[in-house]
Amino acid sequence: MAKKIKLEVVTPDKLLLSKEVDVVVCTGTEGEFGVLYGHVPFLATLAVGEMRFRDGNQTDYAAIAGGFAEVTGERVTVLAEAAELAREIDTDRAKSARERAEKRLAQAQAEEIDFARAEAAMKRAMLRMRVADRGGSLA
Ligand code: ATP
Repeated sequence: MAKKIKLEVVTPDKLLLSKEVDVVVCTGTEGEFGVLYGHVPFLATLAVGEMRFRDGNQTDYAAIAGGFAEVTGERVTVLAEAAELAREIDTDRAKSARERAEKRLAQAQAEEIDFARAEAAMKRAMLRMRVADRGGSLA
């Protein structure tokens, strides 16, 4: 049987996840990448995007609000700005965040508020809603 890879997801607040899995797929800023045991070592910057990981026939999902991934042959360490497992996501909160961001974006030209910041908040909110919909069964 193929060896498992150790996945750790760390945020400024907490260790979100420390788990042996068969495969991890991350959303890098250069595109999606998958990691199995024995992968060549590399570093990647992560986009605001989904991470999924599979152990046996169970797959789980997390929302990653950008960060870095360090890959070695035995482990993947994700350092994320913020991260939540799918089932931990508060969808009402994400909806409110999206609505706030929408309002700010609509006012952005008139009031010259920080468009990039509102856009980033919008991306995080949309990601959280999408990942929450995925559910998940593991971890
Ligand atoms: P909000 O405006 O709702 O705070 P945000 O995008 O500004 O959203 P972040 O700064 O990315 O929030 O995250 C702050 C903390 O709150 C992090 O620990 C993050 O994991 C958590 N968090 C943010 N939104 C949610 C959510 N919808 N469900 C669960 N945890 C969340």
